[in-house]
Amino acid sequence: MSGNAAATSHSSDVRPSPVNTKRTQSELDTDQLKQAFSRSRLKRENVDWVVTSFLFFIHAGCLLAFVPALFSWQGLAICLVMHWFTCSIGVCLGYHRFLSHKSLKLRAPAKFFVMVAGCLSGEGSPMTWAATHRLHHQKSDQDGDPHSPLVGSWWSHLLWLFVKRKREDKQLLFKKYIPELVDQPMMQFFERTFAMWLWVQGLVLLAAGWALDGWIMGASFVIWGMCVRMTAAYHSTWFVNSATHLWGYRNYDTRDESRNLWWVALVAYGEGWHNNHHAHPSVAPAGHRWWEVDMTWWAIRTLQMTGLAYDVRDRIPKGRQANDVETADDKVLAQAARPLTETAA
Ligand SMILES: [Zn+2]
Ligand SMILES: [Zn+2]
Repeated sequence: MSGNAAATSHSSDVRPSPVNTKRTQSELDTDQLKQAFSRSRLKRENVDWVVTSFLFFIHAGCLLAFVPALFSWQGLAICLVMHWFTCSIGVCLGYHRFLSHKSLKLRAPAKFFVMVAGCLSGEGSPMTWAATHRLHHQKSDQDGDPHSPLVGSWWSHLLWLFVKRKREDKQLLFKKYIPELVDQPMMQFFERTFAMWLWVQGLVLLAAGWALDGWIMGASFVIWGMCVRMTAAYHSTWFVNSATHLWGYRNYDTRDESRNLWWVALVAYGEGWHNNHHAHPSVAPAGHRWWEVDMTWWAIRTLQMTGLAYDVRDRIPKGRQANDVETADDKVLAQAARPLTETAA
C-alpha cells in the first residue's frame, strides 16, 4: 500500500492539473454539504436546541388558543393579516421568487420591506433561506437535497430543521449558492438582526393589546398574532417541501418528484403549484393554468403597477416540456458564482 502511494506521488502523469484540482475541490464541497444536510446527522449531539425550542414554544403557545378567554376578534384579524403579510409577501414573494430565483426586481425600499416581512415569518434569515432553497433546486429529490420526502416524510416536513449545522458548512453553503448576496449590506444587516425582529414583534403585539384592553388582550394578541399565525404559516411552507413532492398532478416532465397540489397552493399562497415551479423556477407566476390560483402573483402584479417591482419574468412557457429545468437555476447559480470563480482562479 505505502509502496503504491509512494510510486503514485512520484508519478508526474497523475499530478493533478489545475482543472482536476478545482474539480476535486468542488467534489469535496459537494460531499461536505451532502453530509451537513444528511439525515444521519440527526442525533442528540447535533440538535439545534435554539430552533427546536423556539418551534416547540410556538406550537405550545398555539394550544393556548383553545382557552376561550384568550380569544379576541382583534387577535384573529392580526393573525390573518400577518399570515398573509409574512407568508405571501415575506417568504413567497421576498425570500423565494425575488431572492432565490430573481423572478423580479424590487426597488430598495420595497426590498427592505419584504425582507422585514420575511424575518417576521420566523423562517430564518434571508440568506440562509435562499441558499438552502437553491441547493434544493439543484439537487431536488437526489442525493444532497436538504429536504426530500424520499428520505422521509417527516424529515422533509420539519425534522431537517432540527439539525445544527456547523459554521463552516454554513459558510460553504453561502459561498457556493449565494455569493452575489453575501456582500450586500442589506443582507448582512438582516443576517445580524433577523431574530431581533421576532422579539420586537412579540413586544409590540403585547404592548398594543395591553394598551387596548389590559394584559389578557395583550396575551391574546401574542397567542393569535404570533403562535397561531406562525404555526399555520410554518406548516403551509413545510407542506411545500413534503406534500408537493409526494402528491398531486404534473403539468411538466421534471427530473424530480414535484407535484401540483391545490390545497397547498391555497394555504401557501400559490407555492403549491410546485411542479410548475420546478419546471420553470425563474418564472414569477406559479400558476400556469387558468384555475391555478396564485395569490402571491397578485401581489407581484400590484407592486409592478406601482413601479416598486420591475423586470418581472412573467412569460409562462408553452408545452409540457420542462425545458429550463436544467438551465434556469443553473444559470442563476452560474451568474452568481462567476465572481467567486474569478476570485478563486
Ligand atoms: Zn421542491
Ligand atoms: Zn424555488
